[in-house]
Amino acid sequence: MNADERFLKIAILGATGSIGTQTLDVVRATLPNAEVVALTGHSNIKALAKLANEFKPKIICVPDSDSAMQIKSILTTRCEIVTGTSGLINCAAQSGADIVVNALVGQVGLTPTLAAINAGKDVALANKETLVTAGQLIMELAREKNVRITPIDSEHSAIWQCLQGNEDNEIEKIILTASGGPFRTRPQEKIVTATASDALRHPNWSMGAKITVDSATLMNKGLELIEAMWLFDQPVDGIEILIHPQSIIHSMVQFTDGSVMAQMGLPDMRLPILYALCAPKRVKTDFPRLDFLTCGSLTFEKPDTERFPCLALAIHAAKTGGTLPAVMNTINEWAVGQFLQDKIGFYDISGLIDQAFAAYTVKPLVSIEDVIAAENWANEFINALSFRA
Ligand code: NAD
Ligand code: MG
Repeated sequence: MNADERFLKIAILGATGSIGTQTLDVVRATLPNAEVVALTGHSNIKALAKLANEFKPKIICVPDSDSAMQIKSILTTRCEIVTGTSGLINCAAQSGADIVVNALVGQVGLTPTLAAINAGKDVALANKETLVTAGQLIMELAREKNVRITPIDSEHSAIWQCLQGNEDNEIEKIILTASGGPFRTRPQEKIVTATASDALRHPNWSMGAKITVDSATLMNKGLELIEAMWLFDQPVDGIEILIHPQSIIHSMVQFTDGSVMAQMGLPDMRLPILYALCAPKRVKTDFPRLDFLTCGSLTFEKPDTERFPCLALAIHAAKTGGTLPAVMNTINEWAVGQFLQDKIGFYDISGLIDQAFAAYTVKPLVSIEDVIAAENWANEFINALSFRA
C-alpha cells in the first residue's frame, strides 16, 4: 500500500452488513482522517442512507432504479447514485479509493473484486466466496497488477500476522482454528431437526445470517480452508483444521523448526478489519483487551466430519480443485437461503451438495468464464430439483 493509512480513501461494498458496519465503526473509532469515498447496500436502503448522510461518500450503489428513487428522497448529502452490478464495479474501480473493502456476501462479490484489482486498487477482502470460486485467478491477477489482497476473515488475518517477518521461512503447516459453531456438542439425531433460528445462535461471533449458518454446518471452515490455500499458497494437506471453542486463538502457523506462532485476541472483527486496512502498521485502539486471568481454559478438538458432512465435502472440493469449489459454493449459497426460510432441513444442505458433486464433471479453471459456466451448471441443477415445484 502506498497511501498513508491515516488519510486512506476507502470504498466499502456491503456497507450495511455485519462487516460493513464494523468497518465504519473502525473508521469512526480509529481513523478520523480517513475518507469514505463509496458505500453500497442492497435491501436496507434506509440504513445505507443514514450511513451516507454521516460519511458523505462521493458515490453510493443500490440494487435498482426504484431503490435509487427511494434513497434520493432521504439523502441529505449530495452524491452520485449508481445501481446494480455495474454500480458495484463503479464503486470498486472508479470512486478514487486507495482500498476497497469487499464486505459483500456470496458469489456477487467476485465481479467487483476483479474490477478493483484491474483498476489497481488494494482489496481488503471479507467476501470469502471470491477466493473459493476463483482463488487462483484472483491471486494471479493481483500479482500481475501489483495490488495487495489483505484478509479480513479473522483466521486468515491471524495467519498473515503470524507470517510477518517470516517471509523467507518455510511453513510446515497452518493450523486453522474453528469455534465448532452452535451444534458442536449436539448429537447427530438432534442436529437433524435443527431449524434456522437454532443455527443462528452462534456462541462467539455475531455475523450475517449466511456465514452464521455456514459456521453451524462447518462449511465456513471448508470455505476458509480453500481461502487459506490461495492466500498463503499452501496445499490442502498443509492446513490442519482444529476446533477451538473459545475463539481466542484465531489461527496458527507451525514452521519447519517446530515452532508455532499463534495470533490471539478477543473475538472482535474490528481488529482484523483495522489490520487489513493499515497493515503492517498497528493503529492504537481502545477496544476491549483479552484478559488471560478471566478467559478460562483454551481447549482443542478434532473436527467431526460425520456430524458435519459439509466440511468433508469442502475438503473434497479443495483437493479436487478446478471448477468444483465454484459449484459447491453456488449450491451451498442457495441451500443456505432455503434453510434460512425453513424450506429444507439442516442435512439437506450437505445432501444437495453431495448430489451435485455426483452429477457434475469437473473442469479445469483457466478463466473467469469457467467459473461462470460452473455457476450456470449449478443454477440449472438447482432449477431441475424435483422438490422445487
Ligand atoms: P451480511 O449479510 O451481514 O452483509 C452483506 C452485505 O452485502 C450487506 O451490505 C448487503 O446489503 C450486501 N448484499 C447482499 N446481497 C447483495 C447483492 N445481491 N448485491 C449487492 N449487495 C448485496 O454479511 P457479513 O456477515 O457482513 O459477511 C460478508 C462477507 O464477509 C461474507 O462473505 C462472509 O463470509 C465474510 N465474513 C464475515 C464475517 C463476520 O463476522 N460477519 C467474518 C469473516 C468473514
Ligand atoms: Mg472466519
